[in-house]
Amino acid sequence: MPYKPRNHPDELLLFHSLNIRGDLTSKEKQYYLNLSKGFEGEVIFDRQTEQLQCDCCVLNDLLLQTNNTLFQIDSLIITSKQAHMFEVKNYEGEYGWYADKFYKLPHYEILNPLHQLERSESLLRQIFHEHAINLPIKASVVFINPEFTLFQAHPDKPFILPTQIKSSMRKLNSITSKLTNTHRHIAEKLNTLHIEKSPYQLLPNYHYAKLRKGIPCLKCHSLSTVAERQKLICLKCGHKEVIAMAILRSVKEFKRMFPKHKVTTSIIQDWCLVVHSKKRIRKVLDQYFTKIGSNRWVYYE
Ligand SMILES: [Zn+2]
Repeated sequence: MPYKPRNHPDELLLFHSLNIRGDLTSKEKQYYLNLSKGFEGEVIFDRQTEQLQCDCCVLNDLLLQTNNTLFQIDSLIITSKQAHMFEVKNYEGEYGWYADKFYKLPHYEILNPLHQLERSESLLRQIFHEHAINLPIKASVVFINPEFTLFQAHPDKPFILPTQIKSSMRKLNSITSKLTNTHRHIAEKLNTLHIEKSPYQLLPNYHYAKLRKGIPCLKCHSLSTVAERQKLICLKCGHKEVIAMAILRSVKEFKRMFPKHKVTTSIIQDWCLVVHSKKRIRKVLDQYFTKIGSNRWVYYE
């Protein structure tokens, strides 16, 4: 456990880089902050599900497709009784539920998380039907942020409020029956149906030449870093990092942002900016990547 771990989504990592190195519009910045906050909430929920003692399979962050419709499930917990589907929301502040509409108080209407939940539940039911999976589905929206308050929602709504998370985990833990091979096959099947990369990422356009170069500090993400001997030092917060590790994560970042570009010592030196020794960069590339070609034509994969 967990059966399928949650990975840092590529989209979020790309936005993170663009936020440091590029100039996001205020709309893009807001989108990035929401994405980031949502992910943080999911990770906090994972900490709860990781502690479950009952016999279950936890599948995090499933991206599935049926009838050309993509949908995402934040967490799916398969127990001997049910498939529990959780939509995790990291909303903070005061919200209200009036006439089937969801508001951030005082009067800002937002997308109703219940509609999203019902849509995902119905699509998951179709997938179960297509694959002859016979397991009841229970769907809930979990509000993970302890500073979330919801007014006026009737208790029959499938909401798990911050003060109810512990008791809903206890309820799952009270299931004593064990999983059978059938349940494990269901988990395996869903895992194989998972789509690795969403084709609908809302990425802004970006160009290598226009991005700020350098190595962002691991701790405060500032580009005000310098290389001194074996360390990368942040002039803003003082954080120190082994330079080889800092180069390595910069190469990974470069590959993620420019998957079609060839990775060469020169381009990585330009990307990192603060590492003046080509030898030091080459050493990292030699150690962690595969060298292709020879002499002037060497690149790394
Ligand atoms: Zn720093």
